[in-house]
Amino acid sequence: MFLQFCGASKMVTGSCFFLDTGVHKVLVDCGMFQGRDASAHNQDQFPFDPGQIDYVFLTHAHIDHCGRLPVLLKHGFHGKIIATRATRDLVRILLEDSAQIQKDDAERCHRRGELDCELAQLYTPEEALDVMQYFETYPYGDSIRLSDNLEFRMRDAGHILGSAFFELWAKDSDGTHRKIVFSGDIGQPGQRIVKDPDLVREADYVVVESTYGNRLHRSKDETLLELLSILTNAKREGGNVLIPTFAVERAQEIIYEMNLFAENHLVPDGLEVYFDSPLGIKATEIFERHSELFDEDARRLLEGGDHVFQFDGLRYIDKFRDSRRLAARHGIVILAGSGMCTGGRIVYHLENNVDNPKNHLVFAGYQVKGTKGRDIVDGARTIRLSGRQYPLNLQVHTLGGFSAHGDRGDLEYWLRGFGTSPRKIFVVHGDPDVAVEFSERIRDELKRETYVPDLYDRVELE
Ligand SMILES: [Zn+2]
Repeated sequence: MFLQFCGASKMVTGSCFFLDTGVHKVLVDCGMFQGRDASAHNQDQFPFDPGQIDYVFLTHAHIDHCGRLPVLLKHGFHGKIIATRATRDLVRILLEDSAQIQKDDAERCHRRGELDCELAQLYTPEEALDVMQYFETYPYGDSIRLSDNLEFRMRDAGHILGSAFFELWAKDSDGTHRKIVFSGDIGQPGQRIVKDPDLVREADYVVVESTYGNRLHRSKDETLLELLSILTNAKREGGNVLIPTFAVERAQEIIYEMNLFAENHLVPDGLEVYFDSPLGIKATEIFERHSELFDEDARRLLEGGDHVFQFDGLRYIDKFRDSRRLAARHGIVILAGSGMCTGGRIVYHLENNVDNPKNHLVFAGYQVKGTKGRDIVDGARTIRLSGRQYPLNLQVHTLGGFSAHGDRGDLEYWLRGFGTSPRKIFVVHGDPDVAVEFSERIRDELKRETYVPDLYDRVELE
């Protein structure tokens, strides 16, 4: 039985793990590589035959976990994709959106007369939607026997709506059992909408993410106070607040908090908030359809009759024309994608706002290396937008307390749940220095053997 690391190895994107049990061939996730350097790997050949994959266990709907599923299909995959229902619903809108962005990028590339434009487009929106017919959905917590040799259970990972980590029980051709747990992305406990991550008591092998394996987040309370003071200052000075947001989860978490701010009169009266994202509007509808998955806080509000994603002053913007009109406004808050400023409507809002020191730019999610968002967080003084260079004069803030990823302490707590059972813990989904630092820490603190794989490393699960 062997495991091969086909993505998210010494990097945070492209999650894809190939498990060959000797009886079954399965994948956990099939994500897109993102960022300037990593994205070249989207052109790599899969190191396995997609036509022989029986199952893809999909942890959640983020593109860096599901974005190469259509490529898998184009290369012969015809097995089953196993996920929660909420993940399936979110995958539909996120893959379609991703394909549309690829199409637009390819067209722009052709217009500029550049070479290799076909590399920008991995699949069309139609090809993206072909994936949907392969889904088979299950609830959290049920042990499902797929064959005499393979069983799985999805547990709540508390990362985004529908996110799961997988417990897999596999038997090889000699009848030897292994239990392997794949963390997917592990959430930060104490978020309002998603529940806290489940804990598991034992496993032979654990594959764990390490996005924030070297950091501790500021507390939620501090984060909320910081957001409140940004909103209040901006409104007083007539500045705008731009929040680049992932359309799924981050945006809804922020809107949820702003709903509480507004209803408790903590923000200045008349504060206008624009959620400028057609994708975000669709995602919010999916959240409303799956409120059974919400944490107690959010469910209690809903049951009390509060529309948690609606408040006076909040407007959802669908039409492009209405988005452009925001350019003339001052003292407003705009949430728009993409979350890492790599494209989407946030780019136009940045063009209109970056040079004014009264304005604020608030990052609430992880910024992948090689994206504009990461450059800004790392202290860039200028930014290139739509072919023009702009000075970065606005005030930049990073609010870690909104992160959908657990920090070092949260990941350690989750791993401690396994006690002394794991023979080895594989550390993935982290920048190289972070993954190595986290691996050394858990080796020292938890006294478990660890390994940080390189891309395409293959290990025997003895
Ligand atoms: Zn994720």
